[in-house]
Amino acid sequence: MSQRGNDDTIGSDGPSFVGIKFCQECNNMLYPKEDKNQKVLMYGCRNCEFRTLAESSCIYVNKIMHEIDELTHIVADVTSDPTLPRTEEHPCPKCQNREAVFFQAQTRRAEEEMRLYYVCTNQQCTHRWTE
Ligand SMILES: [Zn+2]
Ligand SMILES: [Zn+2]
Repeated sequence: MSQRGNDDTIGSDGPSFVGIKFCQECNNMLYPKEDKNQKVLMYGCRNCEFRTLAESSCIYVNKIMHEIDELTHIVADVTSDPTLPRTEEHPCPKCQNREAVFFQAQTRRAEEEMRLYYVCTNQQCTHRWTE
């Protein structure tokens, strides 16, 4: 049963690609630029310091937004994950529970690689915070 219609190409070319990006700051055209340290393709402005990741349609989010985003993606389940390290040196700021699990941020940005996230192991609390 072969259906050889003429609609083969309809809906098969995926999301449309926006070829030209413009600077958020000064509206000049952005040029593709390879970030050799992180091996990612960036778009950079030649007029100001604005840069954005090419693979993402999102514009660069500031650090605060990013932090909140990371925290909301942490699920309470992590406290029952036996592979995660635990600490008793960082009491929960909310319920004073002494034990917390901690892990590093899942981010590709080098300056945040050392950032640690903590989740309270008190099942009634599961408060998350970062330092
Ligand atoms: Zn610019
Ligand atoms: Zn707590």
